[in-house]
Amino acid sequence: MDFAWTDEQLAFRARVQDFLKTHLPADWEHIAHGPASKEQSAFAKTFCGALAKEGLLVPHWPEAWGGCDADPWIAFILAEEMWIAGEPRGGQYMNVNWIGPTLMLFGSEQQQQQYIPPMARGETLWCQGFSEPESGSDLASLRTRADKDGDSYKINGQKIWTSYAGDADTCFCLARTGTGKNGISIFLIPMDTPGITVRDIPSIIGEGDIHEVFFDDVVVPESARLGEEGQAWEIVGKALSLERVGIPRFALASDTLRKAVDILKQADRLSSGAMEQAAKAHAACEAAKLYSYSIIDQRARGKIPGPEASVGRFATVNCERQVAEFVVEHVPEAISGEHPMLLAHHQRGIVAGVASGAAEIQLNLIATQYLELPREPR
Ligand SMILES: Cc1cc2nc3c(=O)[nH]c(=O)nc-3n(C[C@H](O)[C@H](O)[C@H](O)COP(=O)(O)OP(=O)(O)OC[C@H]3O[C@@H](n4cnc5c(N)ncnc54)[C@H](O)[C@@H]3O)c2cc1C
Repeated sequence: MDFAWTDEQLAFRARVQDFLKTHLPADWEHIAHGPASKEQSAFAKTFCGALAKEGLLVPHWPEAWGGCDADPWIAFILAEEMWIAGEPRGGQYMNVNWIGPTLMLFGSEQQQQQYIPPMARGETLWCQGFSEPESGSDLASLRTRADKDGDSYKINGQKIWTSYAGDADTCFCLARTGTGKNGISIFLIPMDTPGITVRDIPSIIGEGDIHEVFFDDVVVPESARLGEEGQAWEIVGKALSLERVGIPRFALASDTLRKAVDILKQADRLSSGAMEQAAKAHAACEAAKLYSYSIIDQRARGKIPGPEASVGRFATVNCERQVAEFVVEHVPEAISGEHPMLLAHHQRGIVAGVASGAAEIQLNLIATQYLELPREPR
């Protein structure tokens, strides 16, 4: 792999940095924490609209959908700069990374025309209705039902931990239309459909971030189903593989560590123990970056990343956790809000390895698919 950036990539990064300088408000640091707060979601709409006008929201999308067919490195450089800045796109990063591209692959003409252009303009917020009270890692056990009734479906059940649900326009929702893994279908459900109730879950990662979503006799037309009945497993596998390599959380972790070390240096509080811990956390951030880059390199060469994508994901969780622990131990005043950007990382770091799927599941995949270790006989 050649690690040097091309002139075009350097110029693109500088363009994104300039955009951030001119479009983030002076009080951005105070908006940035609470990864899905109402304030941040509201700001994201204005910010993403401006990004779209500048051609910086979906540059990697096909021209036909408002992009410019940029290669995966351009999308990753964009995402790195967004994450270093505290991800001002809010929940819209999901549209850009995987919801839009998934609709391009599997959506009907009507679904594509209805949903993709507003995403490309930065106008809509989606939520991901996968997890349920008894189904997180074991998603195949989900129980929300979609019962066919003529040319519509009646949906009943409950989702939990749904980020952005309080402000989302549409839910990318999984529901059961049959039995087993192949009995799950996807529905694109406007959140103002009668029968949907959203309840905030109070949490230490910030108010308004995670929710319970209840579906009571929610009626949607057949045209709200994405793909065929029972095709969810295939579509979600594809969608999540797009998401997994799309989130450079290590970039925020690395920048947070640098800020924390600067604070300690300026206050003459950087002990040798802290220095050693910072060096280990820095090495973890670099490892996560290199794994992520090797995956992007494969994608740029037209290859489909294999099980090493799980290694990249686990390395990212590991570095976020190490940086979060460093900050708690050495700059504890950050957690009470004295350094808002450090708090923003902390809120993400403490749920790393849970929020977008349990880290232990990645370890299982690494053991079986990457290291090819045998399963313990039962
Ligand atoms: C901040 C936050 C935001 C979230 N946002 C969303 C969202 O927008 N949409 C959504 O659908 N979900 C969301 N989630 C839910 C998240 O995807 C789940 O929490 C996650 O998949 C884990 O599922 P669970 O909570 O049911 O835990 P479980 O799956 O019950 O896991 C509990 C523990 O058991 C371990 N475990 C489970 N199975 C295995 C196994 N096979 N081998 C080894 N260990 C195992 C896990 O690692 C974990 O430590 C969010 C969660 C958080 C914390």
